[in-house]
Amino acid sequence: MKNKITITVFSLLTCSLLSGCSHWYKGNTHTHTYWSDGNAAPEHVVDWYVNHNYNFLVLSDHNILSHGEKWYPIGRDDWRPLLDEHIEDLEKRFGPVWVVKRDIDGTREMLLKTLPQLRDKFEINGKFIMIQGEEITDSFERAAVHINAVNINELIPPQHGDSVLDTIQRNFDAVIEQSKRFNQPMFAHINHPNMGHAINAQTIARIKGERFFEVYNGHRGVLTNGDENTPSADKMWDIALTLRLTDLDLGLLYGLATDDTHNHHGKGKTSQPGRGWVWVKSNKLTADSIVKAMRNGEFYASTGVKLKKIKSSSRSISLSIVPEDGVTYRTDFLGSRLVDGEVIEVGEVLACTNDLKPKYKMKGDELYVRARITSSRKHPNPFAEGDMEMAWVQPVLGPAAKHN
Ligand SMILES: [Zn+2]
Ligand SMILES: [Zn+2]
Repeated sequence: MKNKITITVFSLLTCSLLSGCSHWYKGNTHTHTYWSDGNAAPEHVVDWYVNHNYNFLVLSDHNILSHGEKWYPIGRDDWRPLLDEHIEDLEKRFGPVWVVKRDIDGTREMLLKTLPQLRDKFEINGKFIMIQGEEITDSFERAAVHINAVNINELIPPQHGDSVLDTIQRNFDAVIEQSKRFNQPMFAHINHPNMGHAINAQTIARIKGERFFEVYNGHRGVLTNGDENTPSADKMWDIALTLRLTDLDLGLLYGLATDDTHNHHGKGKTSQPGRGWVWVKSNKLTADSIVKAMRNGEFYASTGVKLKKIKSSSRSISLSIVPEDGVTYRTDFLGSRLVDGEVIEVGEVLACTNDLKPKYKMKGDELYVRARITSSRKHPNPFAEGDMEMAWVQPVLGPAAKHN
C-alpha cells in the first residue's frame, strides 16, 4: 500500500514537472440525432458512444445546436422512426420520468434532450465529455458544402459564397471569427469532400486559416474511396498537401476519420456508429484541450488500428503499433519529394514495412511525410466491401518544405 502511494505521488510530481502527462482520448466529431436527420434520440446516441469507450463526442446536427425546445413526433414509422417501443426502451434505460411527452389534439410528441441535459447525464470527469458542434450545411449551385464546426458557442448559419472554395472559406472564417470573439479554441473540418463530387483536392488545398478535412467518413454514400473519375479522399490528401507546400505556401493539412452517424435504429447500414474515429493526445480531457491538441496535429485517425506512440519531426517519424494476436500491419510512409525544384510524384510510397515499430528517416528531399497503417484484419462493420482496419498519422513537414 505504501509503495502504491509513493508511486502515485511520484508520478503526480513527474507529471507536473513535465508539464502534464498525456493520454490518448478517443472521439467522434461527426454524429447526427433527431435534432436533424439522425434516426435516434440524442440520449440513445450518446449512450452508444459512452458504452463503446469513447472519451468525447460531438453532436453535429445540420444547422442546429441541441438547445431550446424541440418536439419529435411519436408514431413516425419511416427511416427516422419514433415508435412506442423506442419510448419504452428509453424509459427502461433512463427511468420513467426521463422521457417527456405531450399530446396536442391527438398528435403525440417527445421532447428532445438538450446538450446541457445530455452533459449532466453522461459526462464523467476524465472519462467522457461532450463538445458542442454543428454541421454547417451549405451549398454552392449543386455542390454540397458541409463543414463541421467543433467547440463553438453559437450557431453559425450557412454563410454562402460565390464558388465552392468561397463557400468553404466563408464558413471557416465564421468559425475563426467566433473563436477569436470568445477567445476559445475551435476548429472546423471539411466533410466528405467526394460526396456528389462536390469538393476536389485543388479546392481543399486552397483553404486559408484552417487545416482539417475528413480523410475517412463512414457514410456509405459519400465516395470516400473515390471512383473511376475521382481520387480517394486519401489520395486527395497528398494532392492538396503537395499544392499547399509548393505553389500555395499554406502549410499542412490534417485528416480525420468520422462516423457521420445517422442510422442508430433499424436495418439501415448506411452510416452506423463505430466505423471511424480519432485518437487525440492531450494532458487532460476538456473540450479546449482536445481542440488545442488537434490544432497542434497531436492526433491520428483510425478505423481500428491502435498506436501506442507517435514521434515525428522534420527528421523522422517513428511509430509503435499496439499489436493484436494473429494480425499483421503494413505501414506505408507517403510523401512528395522535391528534386531540382520539381515534384517527382504526388504522394509516392517512400517506404513500406510490416514492423510493429515502423520508422522513417527523412532523406532531405521530402516536402512532407505521413504514415498510413493497414491491418490484415477486415473492418467488422465496413462502409465499403473489403475495408481493412486502418490508421492515418498526421503529416509532418519534410526538409524540402519551407517551414511555416
Ligand atoms: Zn454532411
Ligand atoms: Zn453529417
